[in-house]
Amino acid sequence: MLTIKDLRASVENEEILKGLSLDIKPGEVHAIMGPNGSGKSTLGNVLTGREGYEVTAGSVQFNGKDLFELEPEERAREGLFLAFQYPVEIPGVSNMEFLKAAVDAHREHRGEDPISSVDFLKLARETCKSVDLDPSFLKRGVNEGFSGGEKKRNEILQMMLLKPTVCILDETDSGLDIDALQVVANGVNAMRAEDRSFIVVTHYQRLLNYIVPDKVHVLAGGRIVKSGGKELAHELEEKGYSWLEEEVV
Ligand code: ADP
Ligand code: MG
Ligand code: MG
Repeated sequence: MLTIKDLRASVENEEILKGLSLDIKPGEVHAIMGPNGSGKSTLGNVLTGREGYEVTAGSVQFNGKDLFELEPEERAREGLFLAFQYPVEIPGVSNMEFLKAAVDAHREHRGEDPISSVDFLKLARETCKSVDLDPSFLKRGVNEGFSGGEKKRNEILQMMLLKPTVCILDETDSGLDIDALQVVANGVNAMRAEDRSFIVVTHYQRLLNYIVPDKVHVLAGGRIVKSGGKELAHELEEKGYSWLEEEVV
């Protein structure tokens, strides 16, 4: 579903990703952990095609296509989703209009007609319930005045409406209280499917008690330095990362 080979990428001429490889099969949940500044967010930004990130070597196959041949919008329409890729606030555009436009763009890509406003309202309201957001959020400006927890629930709402095939969650758990964490985890778990994969970037083992990953990787110094099963997250919680960094050098 997503095969990353020897990926190298730079920001402002500084190499951040230094030969990163990952193979994510349909249905799998991969957790990526690692010290601050190791390149975790850079990976998400490179995959979704954010401006300012230059790929200098390596390849990424996404659903059998060369990811880097696709424009960022095409990547999204092909089913790549990064929580946080959407503008933080868009005053004057309601969350509802924004979400419907995104859903319709995905439908158009699949050759389907736009969803009717009535059907969308119904769908959006139901989805709001499942992420514990008051439906009045749909009428507010995109992320305008949302609390941290509300923004993250809203991202899960977007994800549930867009039904991507590869979902990247970048520290979606940071700053969440236990109830919000549970909502995020329930949303992800409800969406787990044989034809959908997740990359969950997190600093804390805590989230992985709720979203149980198939694989855990440590990203340090721009490369995956260790991979294992879910027990690796517990080991990291106990020992930190320094023992791995020593191995890398
Ligand atoms: P992580 O998410 O693992 O904490 P990041 O991917 O955010 O790490 O950052 C990795 C390195 O790349 C850091 O040294 C950071 O300063 C640098 N970096 C990332 N994005 C940018 C950017 N847009 N401009 C300048 N430096 C950046
Ligand atoms: Mg960071
Ligand atoms: Mg980061």
